[in-house]
Amino acid sequence: MNDAKEILKKSKLRPTIQRVAIVDYIIGKHKVHITAAKLIKYLKNKKINISLATIYNNLNELADKGILKKFYVNNDKMWFDTNLQDHYHFYDSEKDELIDINKNEISFSKSPKIPNGKIKESINIIINLKNKN
Ligand SMILES: [Zn+2]
Repeated sequence: MNDAKEILKKSKLRPTIQRVAIVDYIIGKHKVHITAAKLIKYLKNKKINISLATIYNNLNELADKGILKKFYVNNDKMWFDTNLQDHYHFYDSEKDELIDINKNEISFSKSPKIPNGKIKESINIIINLKNKN
C-alpha cells in the first residue's frame, strides 16, 4: 500500500482509498492492460465501492500524470497500459485480452507521407486474434 501512496504523492494526487486501491492493482502486476470494467470487478472483490465514472476519472488522471498509457481498441473500449515503453499489441477478442508485442518485432518497409503541418506522435498497431478452428 505504501508504494501506491508514494506514487500518488509524487503525482500530486490525493491518496483516496479508491486511488490507492487502483494504483496498488496496477503496480502489483508488472505489466497489465486495464479497462474500467475489469478494474471495477477487482475493486468490488476488495469491497471497495466505486462508480464506473469515478474509475474512468481516476484512470484518466493517472494517464495524464504519465503513470499509464491510454488507447482505444475496437472504437468504444478504452484501455490503460502500465507498459510505458513503445510497443504494439495483439488483441484476443475471445478472451478480451491484450498481449504486448515488442517494438522491434515489427518493422516498416514503407510509411505514408505525413500531412502538412503535422508530425508523427505515435504508432498504434493492434493485431486482432481469434481462435483457430
Ligand atoms: Zn501493452
